[in-house]
Amino acid sequence: MKIGFKKIVLGALSLVTLGTLAACGGGNASGGGGEEKGFIGISMPTKSAERWIADGNNIVEQLEKKGYKTDLQYGEDKVENQVAQIENMITKGVDTLVIASIDGSALTDVLEKAHQSDIKVIAYDRLLMNSEYVDYYATFDNFAVGVLQASYIEDKLGLKDGEGPFNIELFGGSPDDNNALINYNGVMSVFKPYFDSEQLVVPSGQTKFNQIATLRWDGSTAQARMDNLLSANYTDKQLDAVLSPYDPISLGIISSLKGVGYGSSDKPLPVITGQDATVAGVKSIIAGEQTQTIFKDTRILAENTVEMIEAIHNDKEVPVNDTETYDNGVKVVPTYLSKPVSVDKDNYKQELIDTDYYKESDLAE
Ligand code: BGC
Repeated sequence: MKIGFKKIVLGALSLVTLGTLAACGGGNASGGGGEEKGFIGISMPTKSAERWIADGNNIVEQLEKKGYKTDLQYGEDKVENQVAQIENMITKGVDTLVIASIDGSALTDVLEKAHQSDIKVIAYDRLLMNSEYVDYYATFDNFAVGVLQASYIEDKLGLKDGEGPFNIELFGGSPDDNNALINYNGVMSVFKPYFDSEQLVVPSGQTKFNQIATLRWDGSTAQARMDNLLSANYTDKQLDAVLSPYDPISLGIISSLKGVGYGSSDKPLPVITGQDATVAGVKSIIAGEQTQTIFKDTRILAENTVEMIEAIHNDKEVPVNDTETYDNGVKVVPTYLSKPVSVDKDNYKQELIDTDYYKESDLAE
């Protein structure tokens, strides 16, 4: 129902915007006090993860308020869909593209086409790799995400106080998502000394990114890997912590652990991190299963992106706060980084409910 309504509103708005464009000739002239608006294509990876639905809606809502016309599409985690959708947006004549990629390296050709049509490209949340035709990047500090996840485990296990040894297993995000690698680097920056001192031990021996990565951040893939890790390495050992990069992966891991008896008083669940503060993830935290998650407020990311779009369309300086970190293999992409927040049972109300990100009833069982 809600979606249908939105579509109707969108349709109506598009007409209004088209009308306005027609009225002022659709060109670049900006006289008469009327603000020049544009047409923005927003390409999102999938609706299967909550955050991208929120991201898409937040960008559209904020752009609509400012009078832009939008085209929002989801690729459903299929690269060829995303390529076709972006090609279609180029044909429809968008001025700017906002892209959260499925596979960051798979869009080089379509980005070149965008460039040939004078379209500016903003990489959204995930960096677009190996292309010079990426103008800006809006994201959360992905290294900080890894640091927050690993520091949480460091804290809970008392590693700074010399506690240990503890058994831990590591999970990573999708190998075709640059965020996953940066996230991993953040994690390792915290864990490395504890691996060296053997306060942290990885019984599976799997610590390299390619050994722990999870294609498409898929929860059931992670669950199957956890099943294997448990049967191969933990018949006579207790698992104390799991570095999980994303709530649905955490929930897959928890199912696997429960399947072999974790979650009872003599065999408590390990400390287990996550990311995205999904409804299911936060409910699991409230229920005392998942331990922590990372909250990335999609409203803020949308706001930063809309500010970039406004600056581009008004020929103003585009707001960025990092011009060094995000090298996509061809160029360093000017970036606006936002701060992720660590959330657990103690602060979820303050971070998620008091900020109106969720209603209390969203999180009730
Ligand atoms: C995003 C995360 C998200 C993950 C899975 C990453 O690129 O940065 O917020 O959890 O993709 O969708």
